[in-house]
Amino acid sequence: MNIKEQINNLREELIQHNYNYYVLDNATISDYDFDIKLKQLKRLEDTHPEFYDANSPTLRVGGAITKNFNSLTHDYRMYSLSNSYSKEDLEDWETRIKKLVDGEIAYTCELKYDGASISLTYENGKLLRAVTRGDGYHGDDVTTNIKTINSIPLVLKGTYPNRFDIRGEIVLPFKGFNKMNKERISEGEKPYRNPRNTASGSLKLQDSSEVAKRPLDCLLYHIIGERLPINTQFESLEKAREWGFKVPSIAKVANSISEVIEFVDYWDEHRNELPYETDGVVIKVNNLFQQEELGYTAKAPRWAIAYKFKAEKASTVLKEIIYQVGRTGAITPVANLKPVALAGTIVKRASLHNADQIEKFDIRVDDIVFVEKGGEIIPKIVGVDLEKRTKNSSPTAYITHCPKCNTKLQRQEGDAKHFCPNTDRCPPQIIGRIQHYISRKAMDIDGLGSETVSLLVENGLIQNYADLYELTVSDILPLDRMAEKSAINLIAGVEASKNIPFERVLFAIGIRYVGETVAKKLSKHYKSINGLASASEQELINVDEIGDVIAKSVVDFFSLFENNDIINRLKSYGVQLEISEKELSNQTNKLEGNTFVISGIFIKVSRNELKQLIEQNGGKVSSSISKKTNFVIAGDKMGPSKRTKAEDIGIAIITEDDFLLMIS
Ligand code: AMP
Ligand code: ZN
Repeated sequence: MNIKEQINNLREELIQHNYNYYVLDNATISDYDFDIKLKQLKRLEDTHPEFYDANSPTLRVGGAITKNFNSLTHDYRMYSLSNSYSKEDLEDWETRIKKLVDGEIAYTCELKYDGASISLTYENGKLLRAVTRGDGYHGDDVTTNIKTINSIPLVLKGTYPNRFDIRGEIVLPFKGFNKMNKERISEGEKPYRNPRNTASGSLKLQDSSEVAKRPLDCLLYHIIGERLPINTQFESLEKAREWGFKVPSIAKVANSISEVIEFVDYWDEHRNELPYETDGVVIKVNNLFQQEELGYTAKAPRWAIAYKFKAEKASTVLKEIIYQVGRTGAITPVANLKPVALAGTIVKRASLHNADQIEKFDIRVDDIVFVEKGGEIIPKIVGVDLEKRTKNSSPTAYITHCPKCNTKLQRQEGDAKHFCPNTDRCPPQIIGRIQHYISRKAMDIDGLGSETVSLLVENGLIQNYADLYELTVSDILPLDRMAEKSAINLIAGVEASKNIPFERVLFAIGIRYVGETVAKKLSKHYKSINGLASASEQELINVDEIGDVIAKSVVDFFSLFENNDIINRLKSYGVQLEISEKELSNQTNKLEGNTFVISGIFIKVSRNELKQLIEQNGGKVSSSISKKTNFVIAGDKMGPSKRTKAEDIGIAIITEDDFLLMIS
């Protein structure tokens, strides 16, 4: 046997033992013998670097250091999940989706593993890269660290697609977590708080050999790629298992929401018996064609929903209710609590949401309240211990006037929250809007922080974000603690913000409900602020992923003189209010003026590729058929209701081939 064969045999043998132990939980070699063989392989590799393989089992022990984690773009966006908390929520979800797809719907029920999500890309059967979720569009390249996790295959088994992404959750099972903590305590160090934070913190450690020491595990739940040999979610779990991934066998197909509830109830009761942390169940439409048909909202797939197990609760004294005014004028009541330990942290504040919430539970100062911590950052109050109420307590009278500017509050029909209508003069609103404008994900103005914004407003130097562009060094130098260097930096930061692309400017100007994702969508679709400003509510609703709430908010924004004035000023300073030439140049206008609706399954291109092709060629994608639709691109199994509607209105129904011809 030559050296190359020896190396290959050892690699194969070790990979198999590793798989048996970490994925199947079934050891086929003693630790000692495994170590000997690993050392043997390492020696051979060291003396024969020509046979290096980035996926060799010897790399599992780590050693490589990552100084900076590069940001990479996900091929497919990593969405979030919508949440549900009750049987009714699940039934409502079923009602919603039944309107959008035809036929019976079956569901896959899986546990919701509580750790850090990861996206793994495999090419030709080898792990190519591992990327954190990040903002859903881009994440950090943590491949080196991920390779040390033994249950993640570096080389796949069986017959697998050429290239695909697989998503899962990096978790730290209780057993390993407790062992780690015991060791830390015996070494006089502070124990880690909980497995989840420890798992997610591990991904960004610089020294991969430190990661290798942590008993991390990776549980996989989602395969995504082009033209995959898979028809259902359940099948994809089975395939993933075949290819060598660790996929818990707890998942089940349910044929109705009541079967889903059975699964949920069972695991709510038995989750303590599981070796790792879970915080709920994820329910997914099983059929992938139906999934495609349902698509996504701006944040999450319509075809999946998380059911959150009841969170941990604690009770404590409500000391005081204070009222915060947000940048949109929304009033949020907040409870100041006697500090109490809850789910590993000390809780001092809890959100009370709105007036209705306070009334519903009849929440009063001095009450003993129940506090719950779900997925949210701020815990919430979920009830009052009425038996312990003091005799002379009186119901909470909700404020009628803004705590900051004393304007009478308003509450619009259908809105849960009260608003301070004094948009232009109410200090927290003025400051909040500017703070939002300069924030990292918006205009990212270097050299200007939240505190300085307050200072500038309080000193009468600015009243809105357009005023920033008129500031001079000599204006701001007299401010408290403002050094010349900081003043120059601030002005330079404001100047640099003129290069921020339109989609982020659109997010920055703070139209209610226009978050980062929606801003991206709208800027792609309308290409300029003028285009957006002249869109009607109905036109907006027809845009893919835009709903009526957002549409109304956009129209309201542009109907105000003050807002148009500020936008015009931004324009005059040179802020980007349209898509740049560069973004436009890799586009054609072959489909200009045409709106498309996509329905069904396609053979040559995926639905996503179709969307991209339409947008790249100047066309628009809409989610529902209306008189404004020009073409419906129909694939196999197009929804019959959609077809009837298109035929009734007389819209051209074309095939993917017809479409590809249009742009060729
Ligand atoms: P959230 O972060 O609350 O929006 O929930 C979405 C996250 O749940 C995803 O990003 C995944 O990391 C995680 N997750 C855990 N288990 C599953 C599962 N079985 N299917 C889908 N997502 C899951
Ligand atoms: Zn006010």
